[in-house]
Amino acid sequence: MLQTLRRIVQEVNSTRDLNQVLEIIVRRVKKAIDADVCSIYLLDDNEKKFTLMATDGLNADLVGQVQMAHGAGLVSLVAQRADPLNLDDALEHPRFKLFTALNEERFHGFTGIPITHHREVLGVLVAQSESRIRFSSDVVNFLVTIAAQLAGAIINAQASKQITVDSKQNKSEIHRDHRPLTGQPGSPGVAVGKAVAITSSFSLSAVPDRPAENIEDEMIVFSLARESVRQDIKSLSFQLLSDGLPTEDVAVFDAYLLMLDSNTLIEGTLAKIRSGNWAAGALRETISEHIKLFGEMENPYLQERVKDIRDLGQSIFNQMQGINDLPVHKLSKNAIIVAEDISATLLADIEKTKISGIVLKSGSRTSHVAILARAMGIPTVVGVNELPIMQLDGCQLVADGYSGKVYISPPDHIIKEYSRLISQEEELSQELRELTDKPATTLDGINIPLYANTGLVADLTPSKESGAEGIGLYRTEYPFMIRQRFPGEEEQSKIYKEVMQAMSPKPVVLRTLDIGGDKSLSYFPIEEDNPFLGWRGIRVTLDHPEIFMIQLRAMLIASVGLNNLHILFPMISTISEVEDAMSLLDRAYQEVLAEGHQVNMPKVGVMVEVPSIVFQIRHIAAIVDFVSIGTNDLIQYLMAVDRNNANVAELYESLNPAVLTAIKLVIDEAHKEGIPVSVCGEMAGDPLAAILLLGMSIDSLSTSAASLPGIKWMIRNFSQNEAEELVAKAIEMKDAKVIKNMLMASLEKKGLGGLVRAGR
Ligand code: PEP
Ligand code: MG
Repeated sequence: MLQTLRRIVQEVNSTRDLNQVLEIIVRRVKKAIDADVCSIYLLDDNEKKFTLMATDGLNADLVGQVQMAHGAGLVSLVAQRADPLNLDDALEHPRFKLFTALNEERFHGFTGIPITHHREVLGVLVAQSESRIRFSSDVVNFLVTIAAQLAGAIINAQASKQITVDSKQNKSEIHRDHRPLTGQPGSPGVAVGKAVAITSSFSLSAVPDRPAENIEDEMIVFSLARESVRQDIKSLSFQLLSDGLPTEDVAVFDAYLLMLDSNTLIEGTLAKIRSGNWAAGALRETISEHIKLFGEMENPYLQERVKDIRDLGQSIFNQMQGINDLPVHKLSKNAIIVAEDISATLLADIEKTKISGIVLKSGSRTSHVAILARAMGIPTVVGVNELPIMQLDGCQLVADGYSGKVYISPPDHIIKEYSRLISQEEELSQELRELTDKPATTLDGINIPLYANTGLVADLTPSKESGAEGIGLYRTEYPFMIRQRFPGEEEQSKIYKEVMQAMSPKPVVLRTLDIGGDKSLSYFPIEEDNPFLGWRGIRVTLDHPEIFMIQLRAMLIASVGLNNLHILFPMISTISEVEDAMSLLDRAYQEVLAEGHQVNMPKVGVMVEVPSIVFQIRHIAAIVDFVSIGTNDLIQYLMAVDRNNANVAELYESLNPAVLTAIKLVIDEAHKEGIPVSVCGEMAGDPLAAILLLGMSIDSLSTSAASLPGIKWMIRNFSQNEAEELVAKAIEMKDAKVIKNMLMASLEKKGLGGLVRAGR
């Protein structure tokens, strides 16, 4: 069964057309369980009716025509209960409804399995038999397993189906119904532009279709790449034979060469290029046809060839990448990047002016790529599960970074409305720019210094222009990430000095190296099953005092003559880690002094990112000068929600009352001990959450330069008293949604709604 299951899933995943996907399922499943009928009914968009979408066993002419109202018949009963139903005689069930056109009265045995995706029933998989016997529990379990695995493929194919591309790939003629796709807001703002699909992993299977700019050129690209792979294989095989490897072991290369020279590969790909696809898209199509063909074969040896075909296709594609430019170099000003994921390093390479938005299938609001997009002020939507990346290339898109909605090829009125909102936003940001030199002081006179987060982007200009009163978080990882080896003391010192000099005399908080989790160094790979619960931040640097000492010394030396340095330790989970870090800092300080540098001991802080530290603030306060709450990680660990996982992104909620209670506890405890508290996680840049932080008497906030003016606008329009009242109410509430509504209403009442939705 497992083998059959794998084969069906593999076949379905390599097919994009919804009807084909459904047909494969019914055909394969019927055969696998030896039923008389297998059918799939899907719920329509308005969730009113179930439509027979595919069948093997019933009258196939009625596919797309037979519809069942919600509330009538067994199919809808299965969907209502979201539970399998297994009957020996369906005809006797009170909910049975006869569809005479289907000739169903012959079939007695019935089992219906809901097809569910993220708690939503998409449809029902039905098997029927002529005999009056229930399907065995093995069969039901098999159907449950297959329905669970296929829900995602159906969602993807459904999303793709809504985009119909004409045969010449004329993107202007792409149509879609106007229901937007929904993801998570990644970075505020709205973008209207053309999608550019980027395959970050450079995997052939993720290559989009794209019209060939010049058919001749694309044919040459393919032929050269194929020839080059051919030469590589030949010389490798020759080499191995000369090394004494037995001929039979080298035979696999002959098989590769045969495939490479096969007419179906060459002519199949060239024909697809001739009909308008670019070389990479055409190759992907040919290879996936081959994979499907071999995957269907019963012979296990031939099935195994699927991997070889995939590898071969990938090799040709790898060669092509050397010949063809990657789309990232072809970005234009109104481009909206569409991808599974993109690395923070790639994004840092793309100049902001070159793109107007980003839409990603993976990630959540606090993924580092979203943080970087916010820092760059690029409207971004993340975690769009249904994103049909390949088909979107070249489509007109509207991405709403406030609501997380993405419209594909929307009608004029939607484009017009969003363009109007974009101009309003520009007006608003112009007004906000006028606040640059004004203090962030509440209506009742409380001043909340606003600092900027930086480090991922080397340029400090935006931080200075935003009116930041210093750098509240400099993530030192970036200078480490863009190098081929650990940067030395002098190299680091130069970078840190530049930052401190640029901001002097304003304070600069340099955070020590925070690698691990989702931030890796190519030259220091950390491979773990649970990287977010593993070797990250201070745990790595304490285990490598040689790396830590170089960094601490570099920071201290850089501060000579400036004295605006603050040092911050990330990912602290025990008091002994703080003590160990402090003693290394003390050692570095003594060394630097002994070498004759006139340096003052900097102020030192600890990040509150791990729940254990929330309850140990008293001890922390006895050792360090300040604490800074890293809400991105604190929420992840409090809620047990991976901050990068789109599947659980809805649970990642900064306004959850438990999160608010924890933050309030940290602030209250730290104040009792007389040390200041800052928030440097993304929550500080969220106008709704920042109202509550203000009400909890936070001492300062540190956020991206792009979010800072909006936060200042909010602070200048609220009194701390008002904010305190909102905190008192929020803490008593049961869930984040209610709290959010209350805060939205209070922002709207003050005319500040433009901070959290599109428009003014
Ligand atoms: C945080 O966790 O809130 C934080 C600021 O650190 P980072 O986002 O770099 O993990
Ligand atoms: Mg963190």
